[in-house]
Amino acid sequence: EAYLDNAATTPMHKQAVRVMADALENEYGNPNSLHQVGRRAEDALERARKTLAQSIGAAPGEIIFTSGATEGNNQILRSFIKEGAHIITSAIEHPSVLRTLEYAKSQGVRVDFLGVDALGRIDPLELEAKITKDTVLVSLMMVNNEMGAIQDLAALAPIIRRKSRRAKFHSDAVQGYLKLPLEVKKADLDFLTVSAHKVHGPKGCGFVYVRKGQRPASLLLGGEQEQGLRAGTVNVPAIVGFEAAVNALAPHVEENAARVKNLKAELLRELSSLEGIQVNSPLEETSPYILSIGIPGTRGEVMLHYLSDKGVYVSTGSACTSKDTKDSHVLQALKLPEAAIKGSIRISLTETTTLDEVRHGAAMIKEAVNFLRRK
Ligand code: PMP
Repeated sequence: EAYLDNAATTPMHKQAVRVMADALENEYGNPNSLHQVGRRAEDALERARKTLAQSIGAAPGEIIFTSGATEGNNQILRSFIKEGAHIITSAIEHPSVLRTLEYAKSQGVRVDFLGVDALGRIDPLELEAKITKDTVLVSLMMVNNEMGAIQDLAALAPIIRRKSRRAKFHSDAVQGYLKLPLEVKKADLDFLTVSAHKVHGPKGCGFVYVRKGQRPASLLLGGEQEQGLRAGTVNVPAIVGFEAAVNALAPHVEENAARVKNLKAELLRELSSLEGIQVNSPLEETSPYILSIGIPGTRGEVMLHYLSDKGVYVSTGSACTSKDTKDSHVLQALKLPEAAIKGSIRISLTETTTLDEVRHGAAMIKEAVNFLRRK
């Protein structure tokens, strides 16, 4: 078998499972309880907060735990909904950003969706031109989940700062966190969203980085947990599992990226013999962890099912939109030919992907294409 769908989710790190199981069994306390059991949970929570803060160069007080990136994106974006306000984003964001901003529009917010080039990058000049005195937020994802486009956040922040003292800068960093170097101070971000299950932590867990001094509105009304920014009993077992995964990955971001890039290069070498192949994620310019290819004359879903029967797991656009049959908004924004969009699959790698898995995957993809094109 070859699990090559790591942008959808990753298997949990063994140590993360162990730590989480132990917490579920033994450290079940509510960190808000004042007795010993609660205190121990609080200690574990605050230790995890420190680890996660360090992993992005933030202070512990700037980390707010959430149920994942969908919640994180909703919370940050919704905080900026106000009639007459202006928000800038890109056309290739995750649905948790795009749908929230569609809602914002219905509430009287003006939203600009920046177009992208063939590599999925926004045009910095267009960004600059769109910023007005009403702009309250610029939200741009660090790495695109469908084809691995990388936005150079550190280069975009100065443009925003130069043009506006009011506009805040947010990034959905789900597919970039622990995959590529990321420091919130260097990127000059005000907000950042992360999810645990893309980095070998548990599902239903994540955090938002909230720069000191900022106070996004709480989505949920209730208790005063997380500095009053996120009501509800904190999921300590998931968070310590997340911490264990981060401890395993954080020291090795650059070496892992280099190794995974070699695997992506191998995939590209193997697949380059496919006639008419369209590479949506070139090796040098996009995330090493994500390879999107279009194969005219095949259909993505059909390929996916053929490969699944052979024990090779890939996806079409993304897991979040896999059930709808519309063409991917991301591949459309790249202005790819229709046949390449329809025949697109996404192969996504992780730290633990092996050369054997990649070779097996490539061989099966070639077999699938030959079989499907002959039919
Ligand atoms: N943003 C991006 C870029 C993603 O890839 C995902 C996961 N598909 C999310 C947000 C949502 O994350 P979660 O599953 O934690 O809600």
